[in-house]
Amino acid sequence: MENLKKVELHLHLDGSVRPSTIASILNMDEQDIRKKVCTNKDTKDLKDYLSKFDLPISVMQTKENLTRISYELALDLKQDNVIYAEIRFAPLFHTKQGLTIDEVIIAVLDGLKQVPVKTNLILCMMRGSSYENNYKVIETAYKFLNKGVVGIDLAGDEKNYPVDNYKDLFEIAKNKKIPFTIHAGEADDYNSIDNAIKLGAKRIGHGVRAIENDNTIKLIKENNITLEVCPISNIDTKIYKNIKEHPIKKLYDENINITISTDNRTVSNTTLNDTYKILQNTFNFTKEDFIKINQNAIKAAFISDKEKELLLKELINQ
Ligand SMILES: [Zn+2]
Repeated sequence: MENLKKVELHLHLDGSVRPSTIASILNMDEQDIRKKVCTNKDTKDLKDYLSKFDLPISVMQTKENLTRISYELALDLKQDNVIYAEIRFAPLFHTKQGLTIDEVIIAVLDGLKQVPVKTNLILCMMRGSSYENNYKVIETAYKFLNKGVVGIDLAGDEKNYPVDNYKDLFEIAKNKKIPFTIHAGEADDYNSIDNAIKLGAKRIGHGVRAIENDNTIKLIKENNITLEVCPISNIDTKIYKNIKEHPIKKLYDENINITISTDNRTVSNTTLNDTYKILQNTFNFTKEDFIKINQNAIKAAFISDKEKELLLKELINQ
């Protein structure tokens, strides 16, 4: 699995900060940091899981730290043999100590470009944030579009903030031709996926609860939707009790375009290599299956057809 070339589409920067880095910045013990930022058996649900991001975000408030953390994540991607990744985060979370939203983006891009792995950014609007703040995210994505940023997302507390509340914002994104993905069908059920597709999302973050409804499966197929599946994270947020109960194989057998991501390397305490190994051992996914799944990821990436063609060649000729 280590040698297999991979593509990761659903990866949060703030959920993937190395615990050793947080420890060194705060001058604290790494094991204590791990207890605070990694999921454990007491994690109850998505809301609880999201509270694990507070500490990493607190150290991501200077250019220097943002650049370092992004550089280290790119190194971790290289370790997983990732040939392309889309890394996401909510830029406004990093302006608490005076950085401008543009400075945040530039600091992150500065870190990523130091490592020879192809990456782009997706900027997250947040469920529960004000219209004005989410609008700022769209404006910034538009300003940096195809200059390191390739799309936007909607993340956060799905259960309490339904996707329809953000309809006007996605209309603006559509008019500006900014590609988008939406977290849906994770903490909430298939209706949330249906609504995200109706708003025009071509990619769904998670989307696993589609398996609960035949019409949602049909809607996904008819609209050629790609699911960004993050199996380990789904266990951590208690959607499924264990990996055996996860519907990834059923979705794959339904011929749905699934992709595989970690979601959060640190909070979910995993790597892409580990995730592939767990899937291989649990569901007998073969190398050919994984190549097909990575082809799905390249086809759904927010990049040009020419870039996709090059990546597909690299994937097939491995
Ligand atoms: Zn996510």
